[in-house]
Amino acid sequence: AESVVYPSTEQEILSAVAAAVRGNQKIKVSTRYGHSITKIACPGTSSGVILSSKNYTSIVNIDTESGTVTAQGGIQLRTLVDQISTRGLALPVAPYWDGVTLAGLLSTGAHGSSLFGKGGAVHEYVIGMRVVTPASPAEGYATVRVLGSQDPDLNAAKVSLGVLGVISTVTLQLQPMFKRNLTLRIVKGDVGSEDETLRIAKEVEFGDVIWYPSLGQVVYRYDYRASLVAPGEGINNFIGFQPIPQAVIASTRVAEEAAESARNRQLKCDLAFTLVTAEQAIGYGYKKNGLIFSGFPVIGRQILIQAAGGCQRSDLPGFYCPWDLRSGGSVFFESSAALPLRNLKSFLRDIRDLQATVPLSLCDLDLYTGILIRFVRKTDAYLGSGQEDVAMLDFTWSRGNDATTPRLDMDIFQELEQLVFDKYGAWPHWGKNRNYVFEGAGEEYANLTKFLDTKNRFDPQGFFSSEWSDTVLGINKTGAPGEATYAPFCAMEGLCRCQTDEHCAPEKNTFCRPGRIYPAARVCRTE
Ligand SMILES: Cc1cc2nc3c(=O)[nH]c(=O)nc-3n(C[C@H](O)[C@H](O)[C@H](O)COP(=O)(O)OP(=O)(O)OC[C@H]3O[C@@H](n4cnc5c(N)ncnc54)[C@H](O)[C@@H]3O)c2cc1C
Repeated sequence: AESVVYPSTEQEILSAVAAAVRGNQKIKVSTRYGHSITKIACPGTSSGVILSSKNYTSIVNIDTESGTVTAQGGIQLRTLVDQISTRGLALPVAPYWDGVTLAGLLSTGAHGSSLFGKGGAVHEYVIGMRVVTPASPAEGYATVRVLGSQDPDLNAAKVSLGVLGVISTVTLQLQPMFKRNLTLRIVKGDVGSEDETLRIAKEVEFGDVIWYPSLGQVVYRYDYRASLVAPGEGINNFIGFQPIPQAVIASTRVAEEAAESARNRQLKCDLAFTLVTAEQAIGYGYKKNGLIFSGFPVIGRQILIQAAGGCQRSDLPGFYCPWDLRSGGSVFFESSAALPLRNLKSFLRDIRDLQATVPLSLCDLDLYTGILIRFVRKTDAYLGSGQEDVAMLDFTWSRGNDATTPRLDMDIFQELEQLVFDKYGAWPHWGKNRNYVFEGAGEEYANLTKFLDTKNRFDPQGFFSSEWSDTVLGINKTGAPGEATYAPFCAMEGLCRCQTDEHCAPEKNTFCRPGRIYPAARVCRTE
């Protein structure tokens, strides 16, 4: 970008947007850390303006009578939930990582897990917003739009991909503070897990499931709402979000790469087993008394259970978040799919069938997070993931250090992606996933036209749009970067679905082939 501005007041946001519009420059909001994996946060051109929300992080008002909070868009989730808790209030659902910002998490449709009440997506709790959008010269090139709970434009602004303007403030409907009572049940043997997963979706308010398909293990989360007087001061210090010494992160990667170069699945599985066993030995970081893991149930206040973090706040030298590229550690691909709940059982069975074709091929998933299954209810937000009741599936697998060397079993992961998105019609999480799964994504949303109508009124010239957002919304169908791009090796990194061998790596015996159990899939397979 050509310049960066750091507004700390709404007036400064107005001035920055007006200046960009007057100067005919693209503009995009960037957050303190920028957690999205997709190109959603990239500005339209390299000569545009970045508006950082780093200094726009305050609570505007907490109204204990109506149980609402109004906060500036750049506030971090951790600060938000801590502040409202001092007034006896809680946000019922949240993403599991507390380093995201309020406006950033809303813009990507971020979620926790629940089919109860309004469901697991945070945007369901938005009852008002102030959005700074471009305007005509007569209006001073920028204006503030105030959206109330009945305003249809709020359904566009709640999950906006950042293309409507700058989200200045957000008002959320909260609930009185409550506690959670949770137990993780680790089951060695995954037979019948489909039925228990569906039961949890329907009967456990904050339930989720981790399935480690190669290890044949399932972790069921029985997580219920409890009264504030229930005994317990438990906390969620999820181990994956704590600061980790660089040497540990790097040596895990070295072990993974050793297994990869030996093309040895068993070694990957052994590594996955070691890591998962270590996490389970400390209850994944849950602590009954805030100090050490001493079994379940863990009962604690909503703010200390609903989301975790730590590594982003650490200033310990040589310690990093495990995904921080500066640590020389994990490099991975992540898929996050909103799968119609009605298709969950069939998809899980397909995973078993796929794994059976190449035993041990899914160890890579288990090395990361296994398959995390959460739940989100049908939404009115035009671009929300919950186009109907969905299971939100997250799976992560390892990525190479260069884009032209085939990875072990990469065809299996490509088939898994295409199964969930193509065969079973899942919607991609806007902040995760590889480029090609966004092909035609906008058209899969029943209310896309309504979203575009709001966009055309808020930012008709697309100052906040990029080639990526235009392409996924179907505005620019010329194949802009950010969606599928067809070129040699493109399918190796998920830039395209292969159509010919050259999209894979034929000189390394890796060819474009049909899927093993889903013949319509097109995957790069080493033979
Ligand atoms: C460790 C980790 C755990 C995660 N866990 C979850 C999870 O449990 N559930 C889940 O759903 N997601 C999860 N995510 C993904 C994450 O929720 C999204 O990528 C995230 O919501 C992005 O938030 P951010 O604040 O970093 O925004 P960014 O990624 O920086 O921005 C996202 C988009 O929002 C726009 N934007 C930001 N602020 C504004 C504003 N004020 N006005 C207008 N547009 C704005 C940006 O321009 C961009 O388009 C996780 C990510 C990580 C790294």
